Amino acid sequence: MPPITFVATANAVLYVGATPRFVDIDPDTATVNATSVEAALSRRTKAILPVDYAGQPCDIPAFMRLARRRGLVVIEDAAHSLGARCRGKRVGAMADLTVFSFHPVKHMTTGEGGMVTTNDEQFARHLRLFGSHGITKDPSQMKASEGPWYYEMQHLGFNYRITDIQCALGLTQLSKVEKFIQARRKLAAVYDRLLGAIPEVQLVATRPWAYHTYHLYPIRIRAGTKSRRQVFEALRAKGIGVQVHYIPVHLHPYYRDHLNTKEGMFPDAEAFYRSEISLPLFPQMRETDVRRVVRTLEEVIRPRGS
Ligand SMILES: *Cc1c(COP(=O)(O)O)cnc(C)c1O
Repeated sequence: MPPITFVATANAVLYVGATPRFVDIDPDTATVNATSVEAALSRRTKAILPVDYAGQPCDIPAFMRLARRRGLVVIEDAAHSLGARCRGKRVGAMADLTVFSFHPVKHMTTGEGGMVTTNDEQFARHLRLFGSHGITKDPSQMKASEGPWYYEMQHLGFNYRITDIQCALGLTQLSKVEKFIQARRKLAAVYDRLLGAIPEVQLVATRPWAYHTYHLYPIRIRAGTKSRRQVFEALRAKGIGVQVHYIPVHLHPYYRDHLNTKEGMFPDAEAFYRSEISLPLFPQMRETDVRRVVRTLEEVIRPRGS
């Protein structure tokens, strides 16, 4: 898995007693590619966790081919990429397991919660078990049959059940999500065009076959101009709601303490983090808002009269 992600991706690995192994990102797209992941595999590797950073899908078919060759499972973190596609194929229909988040900042929300998609019967069965205390009430899956009251706990599961109230919200969100994504893609295209004319700004590359759904609009501030911190603070001071995505997971104190990770281990991820700023992007934004963000960014990088 890449170090440029939200900590949840790596934490999920620790929860099951496994050890996350980070692989440096491709600096152009800030995602991992199959070649560098293959070079990092060990005999103990069980799964590959590509992260569709910012809403741009990784090359999931390439990861699937690698996984089939090496007997591994692909678990795609699609928290950013609901609706995205690789060469026309939808995220959620390619990896062994695809994990989505319905946290309020994501493309659609159920308040809290998420979704896993799979085409594999066994994975689906285990997901249902794990999500409800490891209990099954399906007679065809049970070891014994003692009567109509009977159920079996077959695994140590959790209560990961979504509520009907959350699902009601999710269903109306689902009917709007295509519109939300279209709005994000339109605004991102305006950003692309306007920012392309600012030499101090480096855009994150989009792969030609990727249908990108822009959960985020990340840019990089080139070295030799103002520092990322100066640009960030000046934008915030002018009321522009910027953020940084992400602090590389291996640099968090917990990971430094538990996995002995440190600065210098993943130079491309660290350089990305040090130069990155996520510009505001949400479906209700107007094109004039995007223009104002870009104008303010230009003023901050290159103050008038300088
Ligand atoms: C939001 C997010 C998650 C976690 O989602 P939760 O719904 O909080 O569990 C995981 N990975 C990435 C990349 C995210 O952005």
